[in-house]
Amino acid sequence: MKALINQEYDVIKQRLPRDEALGIFRERGESYKQRLIEEMPDEQSLGLYFHQEYVDMCRGPHVPNTRFLKHFRLTKLSGAYWRGDARNAQLQRIYGTAWADRKALKSHLKRLEEAEKRDHRRLGRQLGLFHFQEEAPGAVFWHPDGWKVLQTLIAYMRHRQQNSGYVEVNTPDMMDRGLWETSGHWQNYQEHMFTTQTEDGRSLALKPMNCPGSVLLFRHGLKSYRDLPIRMGEFGKVHRYEPSGALHGLLRVRHFTQDDAHIYCTPEQMNDECRQVVALVLDIYREFGFEDVRLKLSTRPENRMGSEAVWDRLENALTASLETMGLDYQLNPGEGAFYGPKLEFVLRDAIGRDWQCGTLQVDMNLPERFGLDYVDEQGQRQRPVMLHRALFGSLERFLGILIEHHAGKLPAWLAPQQAVVMSITEPQADYANTLAETLCGAEIRAKADVRNEKIGYKIREQTLQRIPFLLIVGSREAAECKVTLRHRDGTDLGTLPVDEAIMLLAEHSRAPDIDAQRREQASRLERLRAPTPAVETPA
Ligand SMILES: [Zn+2]
Repeated sequence: MKALINQEYDVIKQRLPRDEALGIFRERGESYKQRLIEEMPDEQSLGLYFHQEYVDMCRGPHVPNTRFLKHFRLTKLSGAYWRGDARNAQLQRIYGTAWADRKALKSHLKRLEEAEKRDHRRLGRQLGLFHFQEEAPGAVFWHPDGWKVLQTLIAYMRHRQQNSGYVEVNTPDMMDRGLWETSGHWQNYQEHMFTTQTEDGRSLALKPMNCPGSVLLFRHGLKSYRDLPIRMGEFGKVHRYEPSGALHGLLRVRHFTQDDAHIYCTPEQMNDECRQVVALVLDIYREFGFEDVRLKLSTRPENRMGSEAVWDRLENALTASLETMGLDYQLNPGEGAFYGPKLEFVLRDAIGRDWQCGTLQVDMNLPERFGLDYVDEQGQRQRPVMLHRALFGSLERFLGILIEHHAGKLPAWLAPQQAVVMSITEPQADYANTLAETLCGAEIRAKADVRNEKIGYKIREQTLQRIPFLLIVGSREAAECKVTLRHRDGTDLGTLPVDEAIMLLAEHSRAPDIDAQRREQASRLERLRAPTPAVETPA
C-alpha cells in the first residue's frame, strides 16, 4: 500500500463502450467482471478506473491520485462468497479505510473499536439473550431473557398504538400463490420468498410482507366513510430469503417480526394521518433515547403509476406533515417506489452510526390491484388511500441496534432482569430470597444471588450482566429490614427501608409511556372535575 501511495500515480476514469470494456476484461482473464457486465444487458457504456496495472469497474467516485490515501489502515481480510451465496466460489476481500488526515483516521478507528465492543452478537451470547445455529440459517433462537426483552418491546408498542387509535390484527403466515400474483410479489419478489406445495397441488408462500393480508382484511365486508380511518397494526412475522453471506446476527435475518401498520383513509384524511404517524414515530424514538433522527423523502420516480395530480397530492401529504411540524428533511428526488412516495426515518446511535428504521409510504397500487373501496356520503364507491407504516421495521433488528446503542445496558424498563438481591453472608439468604419475591410481586423483574461467594465477586459479575439495580443485604440490613442499593454504573443510592427501595425501583422500571399515560389520565380527570359552564336548559 505504502509503495503504491508513494508513487502518487493518477487514477484515471474512462467511460468505455460495452464491447470495449468486455474486451479489456476478457484479455485480462477477469471472468467475474465479464459476468457482471453480462448481467447488465441494458448498459451501453461502463465506467472503468485505471490504476496502473489494475483495472476496476465502478460507479465511483475514486480518489484522483493515490497521494490522497496517505492516512489509511487495512482493517481486515476475509473470504466472501461471490454474490453473497455460500454455494458460490469464495473470493478474498481486503477491507481498508482512508481519511483526509491522521486525526480523522484515528477517530474512525476508535469508533470501529467501540463498535466491536458493542457487537450485539457478542453481547447476546454474553448476556444469554439469543443464539443462532446452522439448522435454521437466519432465524433466532430466543433464550428466556432475550424473549423477555422482545416481548417487552412489543407490549410497549401495543400500548402506544392502542392509545393512538390503532386496532391490532393478525393475518395468516402462509397464503395462496394467487394472492401473491395479485399483489405483484410473485412476479417481482419470488426469489426472496419461501414457497411450498401442498398435497392437493396448491402453491403457497410464507408472507414476505404483511400488506396483502391486511388488504384482504380491509376488503372483508363493506366499508363506509364512517369507518375511516382504519389503523390496523400487526406484529406480523415475515420471511424473506436472504443469501447466506448477507446474514448478520439480528441485523439481517430471514425471519423477523415487523411492527407493521396499514392505515386506510379518505384522501381528505391523508394529510392528518401522515402528520400523526410522523409525530408518533418521533415521540417513540425519543422515548428510546434517539434524539438525533434524520428524515429522507423519496419522491416520484421516472417509471410510475398514477397521474401527476395524484402524485402531487401524495407527495404534498408527506411534505405538508413535515412542514407543519417544522421538521427538516433530505429530499431524494426520483427515489420513491413506483406506487407512491416514501418517508424514511434514520436514527443516529451513540457512536454516530446511522440506521434506517421507520418508513411511511403512501400507496395507490395495492388499493387499485385489490379493488378496495368504501362508500362515501353520497353512496358512491371510492378508493381509499393506503398508508404503510413501520416504526422499528424489524423488531429483531431494532433490538440489535438497541443493544449496540446502549452497549448492552438496556434501560431498566427493557432490561430482562431489573434487579438482583445479593446476600453478603449465608445467614441473609432467606431475607434476600424473600426480598426478591417481594420485588417480583411489585412487578419488578428480580432474582436473588445467595451463592456462597464474596460480595465483591457477585457485584462484579452481576454488573457485567448489565443488571440495572444491585441490592445488597448484610446482617445489619436484614436486622433493620433495609437494603443497600447500587446502580450498575457504580452510583451508590444509599441504604433504604425496603418499601422506599421498592418504590424507587418500581418508578425506574416502568415503561416510559406508562408515566406519560398517567399524566394524560390525570389531566383528563382534572378536566372532568372542572366546573362546566352553566348552560341554560330550555324550558
Ligand atoms: Zn405494508
